[in-house]
Amino acid sequence: MKNLKPNFSHIYVEKDVVGYPLTDLALSKFSSSSIVMIDHYKDLFNRPGQDFQVQKLSMKLILAKKKEPYLYPASNIIQDYDTPNVFYNTPILNCIYNCDYCYLQGMYNSGNLVVFVNEDDMMDAIDREVSDPRDPSRPTVVSISYNTDLLAMENILPLSRRWINYIDGKRDTILEIRTKSALFGAIKDIEPSENVILSWTLSPEPICAKYESTAPPLKSRVNAIKSALDSGWQVRLCFDPIILIDDWFEIYSLFLKRLFQEINGSHLRDVTLGVFRMNKDYFNRIRKRETRSDIYFSDYAIENGIVVVDSEKRRSSMETLVNILTEFVPKDKILVWKK
Ligand code: SF4
Repeated sequence: MKNLKPNFSHIYVEKDVVGYPLTDLALSKFSSSSIVMIDHYKDLFNRPGQDFQVQKLSMKLILAKKKEPYLYPASNIIQDYDTPNVFYNTPILNCIYNCDYCYLQGMYNSGNLVVFVNEDDMMDAIDREVSDPRDPSRPTVVSISYNTDLLAMENILPLSRRWINYIDGKRDTILEIRTKSALFGAIKDIEPSENVILSWTLSPEPICAKYESTAPPLKSRVNAIKSALDSGWQVRLCFDPIILIDDWFEIYSLFLKRLFQEINGSHLRDVTLGVFRMNKDYFNRIRKRETRSDIYFSDYAIENGIVVVDSEKRRSSMETLVNILTEFVPKDKILVWKK
């Protein structure tokens, strides 16, 4: 496609966020970008008729103020983490990567990135929740990289660093930073925090090449994981989504065997796995407008508004993979999505 501008050639700034430290930081990073003042991010981001995929080719940055709610209860699409106190928040909407199976394509009208600069409000909301948890005997877990890949942005905006500094030393509170990035080096100088889980999503090479082509290659992610483990961080590996392509068994078993030759499974905090699944409305929206990926044209069941691999296939594939994984990781550290 001709005449595409580089990412972040334009920064849209809500009038209300002028003067916030993160606004100033972002503007200083993109001093040659065109700045456009706006009233409200939704005027741009939620506008109908936008082309998500075309916008992904030249993403713009929108700096905005998050309004309540600052914290959301975790959806039934994620694994149970042995505590009912599980939440996510949205420091950023959208991701610099563009995986075929990503639900963000169906969730948002726009492929541009929104960064909420009032991080203090989001942090205060966590403090309030932790002071009055649903189950006081269990920790509160907050995923801060839920509708984005926060660590992938670290060289652009050091948000993971700021969140780690905020949470370090707090009682009964854990932040999960889920990523496909290889940018552990950007936070390597920080002392590992017991309050933080660094979670890497990994897939076998053929899946990375076909469905995650904009994310860093598997090898770079594995090197980042090894570095994080060597530095003493708590690391979770996420084999999620497992994509049940025709020869999935051979591909995933070889992948896991090779992976655990490089990574000592007993050093991991835990691993999670789950088959491809997606909110039905997002799925149908993507399928209708985006036909590049065969993922949207396989057979699925619909369960409680979720498009998902049917229960028989999902149970047997998960059992098979758990059996392989238990060669490398203690069984009580394997968390499976199988609702
Ligand atoms: S890395 Fe995650 S959030 Fe980003 S595009 Fe891929 S699936 Fe979506």
